[in-house]
Amino acid sequence: LVSRKKKAEDTIVVVNGERIGEGKPTFIFGPCAVESYDQVAAVAGAIQQKGLRMIRGGAYKPRTSPYDFQGLGLEGLKILKRVAQEYNLAVVSEIVTPHHLEEALDYIDVVQIGARNMQNFELLKAAGSINKPILLKRGMAATIDEFIHAAEYIISQGNDQIILCERGIRTYEKATRNTLDISSVPILKQETHLPVFVDVTHSTGRRDLLLPAAKAAIAIGADGVMAEVHPDPAVALSDAAQQMNLQQFDEFYDSLQKFMKSYEIH
Ligand code: PEP
Ligand code: MN
Repeated sequence: LVSRKKKAEDTIVVVNGERIGEGKPTFIFGPCAVESYDQVAAVAGAIQQKGLRMIRGGAYKPRTSPYDFQGLGLEGLKILKRVAQEYNLAVVSEIVTPHHLEEALDYIDVVQIGARNMQNFELLKAAGSINKPILLKRGMAATIDEFIHAAEYIISQGNDQIILCERGIRTYEKATRNTLDISSVPILKQETHLPVFVDVTHSTGRRDLLLPAAKAAIAIGADGVMAEVHPDPAVALSDAAQQMNLQQFDEFYDSLQKFMKSYEIH
């Protein structure tokens, strides 16, 4: 059902007035994890100033080590929603188990399924039964075909509001956190009718590569870019090495807009 052969027209996912997949790139920014009201509000203010409509932030964090910050859970979602209402933003946040889906729906506008859960088939089926957009990230060891099949699990339950997100894959290369598989973008655009995002933060894992990676994503036809922003990355409870501070975010976004204008991508 996600195949272009089944449906030739692009699927457009509407989030808070933003039309994702219609040609003009859209953006999802926000901290890696929700840490406090003030932290989220600072980022929300910067996002709103750019005229953007979505904020991300993890409340249930799938961390490599069980001893690392696991996220604020439902309390984090409540903070996100409160801030989002104050700044007129839609909330994008990850859910890691079907058990949390129902209680989270009151607080989340776009349900993110993370790389580590791309083949959590029960979660995919549960996400397919709800009436909210799903941001599905590519598993770090998933082929494009497996990624497409994961989306098929969602759509087969009736939910066709799916945004695919390339977030880098595991290779032997150590210079970046993951290897951004940029060619997956046009392949996914050809093979499916779904919007395709690129997460430049988790793919590169390097602040200095966020802008060039975002330019590449847009140039190759991505429908949008995700990146992490934190008021003070040095003290962030997760992903301190790769989040932008507010000034870096400002420069990143303005440079990207200039790039888009110069290539007449509007
Ligand atoms: C995230 O976006 O917060 C995240 C954990 O990313 P990924 O699932 O791609 O690792
Ligand atoms: Mn992160």
